[in-house]
Amino acid sequence: MTFTTEQMRFWSPEVRELEPYVPGEQPKIQNLLKLNTNENPYPPSPKVVEAVQAVLANQADALRLYPDPDATALKQAIANQQKVELDQVFVGNGSDEVLAHIFKAFFIQKEPVLYPDITYSFYPVYSQFFGIQTKQIPLNENFEIDVSDYQQENGGIIITNPNAPTSIALGLDQIEQVLQANPDRVIVIDEAYVDFGAESAVQLVNQYDNLVVCQTTSKSRSLAGLRVGFAIAQSHLIAALEAVKNSFNSYPIDRFAIAAAAASFEDQAYFEAQCAKVIESRKKLVGDLTALGFKVLPSKANFIFATHPQYEAAKLAEQLREQGIIVRYFNKPRIDQFLRITIGTDEQNQRLVDTFKTDILS
Ligand SMILES: *Cc1c(COP(=O)(O)O)cnc(C)c1O
Repeated sequence: MTFTTEQMRFWSPEVRELEPYVPGEQPKIQNLLKLNTNENPYPPSPKVVEAVQAVLANQADALRLYPDPDATALKQAIANQQKVELDQVFVGNGSDEVLAHIFKAFFIQKEPVLYPDITYSFYPVYSQFFGIQTKQIPLNENFEIDVSDYQQENGGIIITNPNAPTSIALGLDQIEQVLQANPDRVIVIDEAYVDFGAESAVQLVNQYDNLVVCQTTSKSRSLAGLRVGFAIAQSHLIAALEAVKNSFNSYPIDRFAIAAAAASFEDQAYFEAQCAKVIESRKKLVGDLTALGFKVLPSKANFIFATHPQYEAAKLAEQLREQGIIVRYFNKPRIDQFLRITIGTDEQNQRLVDTFKTDILS
């Protein structure tokens, strides 16, 4: 919808200039195969459902009372699972909110914040929102992050690992190079996809006083609908995030989300089994698509980034949609011949492969 200048005269001048993030669509089509927003194809742990039911069972209080503003039960469950102290955990309404607070807390500096030219497209949006200067560092010709590019003046650095939408992961030795080269700046590692085969930088947190690691329950814990994300860092950095959060919204995590997410972190066995299934399915899907002539970047995520030398990516995405399958296509320089495809169940992936084989590539 567009509005006239007359109508927009009420808007704050800076809001008139905002270019908001556009989320992947959530269409309501029958028999749709949705491989476009990296949701998990499996349900969350049954313990999560039990925890929500237990909150509801106390009907007198479940909705009437405010939740714990510190979400301590959830933070404690995360601290136990991540093997850190309680005061090293920050939680927010999705990691998108955690990231917003991170940008506000650490990146409003004189120098530009650095991130790759191809990465999570929310970073430029937050930067504009908070008036932060940015410098985008090109990925190399293999779509990899070259950490030696991150040794220049900056107001902070944010790296998605594994990167999105490329799916390629850095090793911890490379992350340590960035941390050591920038001891007076906060380095943020956005680990939205780390549980699908990459190494988490959480194990470096006690060694580096400038490291913030951000994760989410949306992908590896099948809880995108719940909206819970978190950050792990030394307590002096967590304190800055708490100050920002309590200047914005004291109760971002509701009673259901606190109980449900805590239950997820307490069911480690279910979590590990689900991640292993996705990794196994990814291996098979990469093999099948490669056999059809696709080139697939080496993925450590629950999605793959694939290109076909003989077919236009935009056209492929359109043809898949006609068959009821939605994948993500970015009409952006350097990646406009790629499709980002979420890993589904083996059955869903087979439908994708069969559709390519019989309806599109033949
Ligand atoms: C999905 C995603 C997020 C946001 O996750 P939510 O917790 O659902 O807000 C953050 N960063 C990256 C790179 C993502 O892909």
